[in-house]
Amino acid sequence: MFLNQGRPCGWIEVVCGPMFSGKTEELIRRLRLAQIAKQRIQIFKPALDDRYEENYITSHSDQRFLCQPVRTSRDILERVNDMSRVVGIDEAQFFDDQIVDVCGKLADRGMRVIVAGLDQDYLGKSFGPMPQLLAVAESILKLKAVCIVCGGEATKSQRLTDDRSTVAVGSGEKYEARCRACFDPDFSVANSIPAIPMAKGAR
Ligand SMILES: [Zn+2]
Repeated sequence: MFLNQGRPCGWIEVVCGPMFSGKTEELIRRLRLAQIAKQRIQIFKPALDDRYEENYITSHSDQRFLCQPVRTSRDILERVNDMSRVVGIDEAQFFDDQIVDVCGKLADRGMRVIVAGLDQDYLGKSFGPMPQLLAVAESILKLKAVCIVCGGEATKSQRLTDDRSTVAVGSGEKYEARCRACFDPDFSVANSIPAIPMAKGAR
């Protein structure tokens, strides 16, 4: 527990950005440094993310850290051990709005809360509870990826399928990072193939 004049003093750090910007790498880097300092850490992610092994957060470069998948943000409160000094939360955009309260409560208990998540969905709109988390955080890091079209600084996650679900779990084949200029929120697979004239209205 961190102490400020004898009182517990925690805080919230948010790491956000588009896909392929290294959010999970940054989360893992911070957690690893805390672990080297022998601080007790716990990591949570929403249970709906089944991209990788059930009990790890895994970065695209294959670094991994043990974590607990949970269904709701309230489950985090129930599972956090009082001895933990650092709580990591990955894919925070998929949590319910109560995640904001949960992070606040953990910080009030003297914990360092590190939250990683997509700040924007595939339409370029703010994603789930991320705007509120960014508002209450003590520290924010907004990462950028490299635009796959022009090589500029990418802040958007371009969806490459006709799947209309915001909760579509991202992966290499379905999304790519793009800058504001190259981003196309109206993307449809049919429209992306000019050789097929019936594409209009297909989505
Ligand atoms: Zn671009």
